[in-house]
Amino acid sequence: MTAPADSEAATKASGPIKILFVAGPGRVGSTLLGGMLGQIEGFFYVGELRVIWRRSIRENRPCGCGQTFAECEIWREVLREAFGDVSKLDLAPLLAAERKLSIYRTISGMFPSRRRKLYASVDEYRDATTKLYHAIGKITGCRVIVDTSHLPIYGKFLESLDGLDVRALHLTRDARAVAYSWRRVKVQPGGGEKSFEMRRPHPAETSMWWSLINMATERTWGPTHPHYLFLRYEDFIAEPQPWTRRIMQLVDESPPRLPFDGERSVVLGPTHCVFGNPGRFKYGSVPLRSDDEWRGKLKRTHRAAVAAVAWPWLKKYGYFKTPPADVRADTAASANNTDAVSAAPNARND
Ligand SMILES: [Zn+2]
Repeated sequence: MTAPADSEAATKASGPIKILFVAGPGRVGSTLLGGMLGQIEGFFYVGELRVIWRRSIRENRPCGCGQTFAECEIWREVLREAFGDVSKLDLAPLLAAERKLSIYRTISGMFPSRRRKLYASVDEYRDATTKLYHAIGKITGCRVIVDTSHLPIYGKFLESLDGLDVRALHLTRDARAVAYSWRRVKVQPGGGEKSFEMRRPHPAETSMWWSLINMATERTWGPTHPHYLFLRYEDFIAEPQPWTRRIMQLVDESPPRLPFDGERSVVLGPTHCVFGNPGRFKYGSVPLRSDDEWRGKLKRTHRAAVAAVAWPWLKKYGYFKTPPADVRADTAASANNTDAVSAAPNARND
C-alpha cells in the first residue's frame, strides 16, 4: 500500500500531476473530446473517474479497452499500487462519499464555506482518491490525466488534494441538443453487472441541471481563473485543431503531434476510460461533424420546455443566434433522410 508520505515524496520528485478536468453538464461531447485527448502522448483518459468506486470496482463494468474493469491489466496495476490488496478495500465509506459529492450537491457546492464543510467530512475518500490519482500517474507514466467527471463540486475537491494540479475545461453544448440526446435510448453495457438502459429524463429536468451545472462551473472557476477555459462543443467541431491547441495551452503542454488524420477528423484508439457515454467504445477514424439532428426532430413542446428553463444561459452562450449555413444544410439533410444519420454513426458523439 502506498503511504501518503510516499505520494508526497513522489510529488516532490516529479512535480504535481496535471488533471485536465472537463467540467460542465453531461451529453456535451466530452466522451469524444476525452477519447481524442487520450491519444496524445503523455495524456491518459480515465472517463468519469468520480464513479470508479461504484461503477467499476463494485459493479465491474467494462473499461474503454473492452475488458471488464477487473480484467484490465492497467487498472489492476493502478489499484495494486494505490491500495495493495483491493479485495480488502473498504468500499462503504467511499461509496457514501461518492454520493455526497454528487450532482445533488451542485447548489451547495457553489458556496465555498459549504464546500469546505463537505470536503472535511470525507477523510477516507480524500485519502483514497489522492492515492488513486497518484497511482494512475505512476503506473501509466502520464503527465496529464483527462478526467470527464463533469461535476464542479468534484473538480474543486480534486484541487484540494495533495500533488494534483487541476486545469478546468468548461465544456458545454446547446441545451436543446443535450435535451434531445437524453431522450435517445442508450444502453450502458454490462460486464460484471447487467446492462441497463439509461434514464431518459424530460427536457425540463435536463435543462434545469444543464443551467445549474453551467452556473456552478462558472462560479467555481470562472473566466478570470488562470486555469479555466470555456468551450462550446459546437465551436470545437467547427475548428477542432485550433481549439485542441488552446486546450494544450491550458495544461501547458506542447505535444509533437495531435491525433488528427484530416482537418476535421480524428483517430481514436482504445482507452482505459472507466465509465461514461456508451460511445466510448468507438475506435478508428472519426469525422467531426455537427450532430444537429435535434433541430429537425426535437418536439415543439420539448423545445419550449428547454427554452423556458434554460433561456438565460442559452442567450448568454449565444445559442439563440442563427446557426451557420453548413449546420442548416446538415439539419435539412438529417430531417429529410434518416439514412444520413445511420451512414455516419461516428458523427453522433453525445
Ligand atoms: Zn482497460
